[in-house]
Amino acid sequence: MKLYKTEAIVLRARDCGEADKLLVLYSREYGKIKAMAHGVCKPASRKRGATQPFCHSRFLLHRGRELDSVSQCEGLEAFPALRSDLGKFGYASYLAELVDALTPESEPSEPLFLLFLTTLRLLTSNDAELLTRAFELRAACFAGYRPQLEVCVQCSGPLYGSLRFSPGLGGVLCENCWPVDPGALPCNKGIVEILKLFLRWHPARLSLLQVSRPARNQLKELMRKFLTYHLERRLRAIDFLDKLSAAGP
Ligand SMILES: [Zn+2]
Repeated sequence: MKLYKTEAIVLRARDCGEADKLLVLYSREYGKIKAMAHGVCKPASRKRGATQPFCHSRFLLHRGRELDSVSQCEGLEAFPALRSDLGKFGYASYLAELVDALTPESEPSEPLFLLFLTTLRLLTSNDAELLTRAFELRAACFAGYRPQLEVCVQCSGPLYGSLRFSPGLGGVLCENCWPVDPGALPCNKGIVEILKLFLRWHPARLSLLQVSRPARNQLKELMRKFLTYHLERRLRAIDFLDKLSAAGP
């Protein structure tokens, strides 16, 4: 089988030579795939639209010895609302970078594909910040980094008193245990409950959630440190998002 079909979201598209692009796709059937799209930078190319970052497209790919190539493609959803708003564009770019960082090649996860697609759809008209936090946590779980939120990650006892979150130990520490990790972040019952809702609720329901600015900042810090710990690097889109939020609405 030299040719194969797949439905995918474009994670990255890098110019290669005069007219080609090297694509990184997250596909429903095969997980992450790298593929060359030949001639896509030519103004008349019909592949142009379908190969833009975070476009949801259908691909016919040709299996190559070293690298697959795009034989045909058809755009299904281009998310124009995410391209016309700098803030939403920043969030969508971050989600794509995160999926790329969390996934190895050729390991399919349909739940992650569907979560990514649903979140991109919801980003166009919803609370982008909370959707992104929920996405971070769920995507981390799919990648095998599920934090312990039910009991203390150190002593397995109930969560009582003032709590901390330890990115390294992978969960919440009770009042008794938090000195075991001096790098643990301030946390509280309310934050833990929101994290649990992120895992339980469909992302569409998050718009019902009222979360204060201080709690949002705490969630951001916590998820960021948790992901940086596992990825062992900081993602580029984070700096872009930070610059945007520093510039204000
Ligand atoms: Zn404990």
